[in-house]
Amino acid sequence: MKRPRRGGPAQYDERLARARELVDTPGVEHPMRVLVEVLAHQQRRAEDPTVVAASALLRAPTEQRAAAATYPLVDAADIADPVDGEVVVAIDALVPVSRLPPPLMTAAGALGDHGLRAAAVAQWLVDPALPDPAVGFWINVAAQPVFELAAIGAPVPRREHWAAAACPVCGAAAQVSIIAEESGEFMAGSPRSLWCSRCAADWTYPRARCVSCGEDDARRVGSWIADVWPTARIESCDTCRGYIKTFDLRERGGVDVVPLVDDVASATLDLWATGRGLQRSVRSLAGV
Ligand SMILES: [Zn+2]
Ligand SMILES: [Zn+2]
Repeated sequence: MKRPRRGGPAQYDERLARARELVDTPGVEHPMRVLVEVLAHQQRRAEDPTVVAASALLRAPTEQRAAAATYPLVDAADIADPVDGEVVVAIDALVPVSRLPPPLMTAAGALGDHGLRAAAVAQWLVDPALPDPAVGFWINVAAQPVFELAAIGAPVPRREHWAAAACPVCGAAAQVSIIAEESGEFMAGSPRSLWCSRCAADWTYPRARCVSCGEDDARRVGSWIADVWPTARIESCDTCRGYIKTFDLRERGGVDVVPLVDDVASATLDLWATGRGLQRSVRSLAGV
C-alpha cells in the first residue's frame, strides 16, 4: 500500500497542497491564508544556498551523537548567525504580502533592532518557548526550513532508547500527536507518535501519557472528540491542565491528514479546550 503523504521534514509541497485545500475552512480563513504565505516562503527558502549551508552545519554532529546516544542530535547554538539573517528575510518577504494580526506586525518592527533580534534568537535556539510568542512566530517561520532540512533522514532513536516528550532530533516540544494506521506487524497495534514543532521529525510516545507532565494514570488523562473535526481529538491532563491535539489517522478522512496543516485548520478545537481552562505548550499558527 502506498504510504500517504504527511508533510514531514521539508515536504512543503505536501503541506502547501493541503493548506490550499483547507483554506476556506470556516472560522480560520485568515490564519489559513497566512499559513499558505508562510509555507510558500519556507519552500522557497529551503532551496536557498544560505539555508542549505546552515542546515548542513546543524546536521554535522548528528551521526556521531546518534552513535553515542546523545540527544538532541543537533547543536542549535551553531546556527545563530544564519537564523538571525533568515528572520530579516522572512519579515521582508511576509510583511508586505500577508495581512498579519497587529501583535505580529509589532513584533516584526521590534525585531528590526539587531540587539533585540540576536537575544531573541539565542533564547529561541535554547528553547522555542522562551521568547514572547509573537517574536517566536517570526523566528519559527525563519528557522524551520534550516531545522527541517537537517531532520531529513535523521537517525531518530527507537522507542526503547527514547521515551521523552522532547524531540530527540532538535530538543523542541511537540506540535501535535498522531495515532498511525495499523503497522501491519503482528500484535504491533497502532502506535502513537509526536510531531516536532521545530524540525517536523516524529518519534514514538506512549499512548496514554501526558506530553506536558508525564502523567500516565488513565483516570487523569482524558480524550475529547468533536463532531466538527472527526480525525482530531483533544488529549487533556487533570494533573497539569495541559493538552495536546491528536490526529487519529484511522478515522474517516484520516488518509488526507497533514498534521502540521490540519492543526491550524482545526483551531475551533483549541478554542473549545482553552475555554475549559486547558493550555497547550506549543500554539498553532492560528494563535491558540
Ligand atoms: Zn525537532
Ligand atoms: Zn499533564
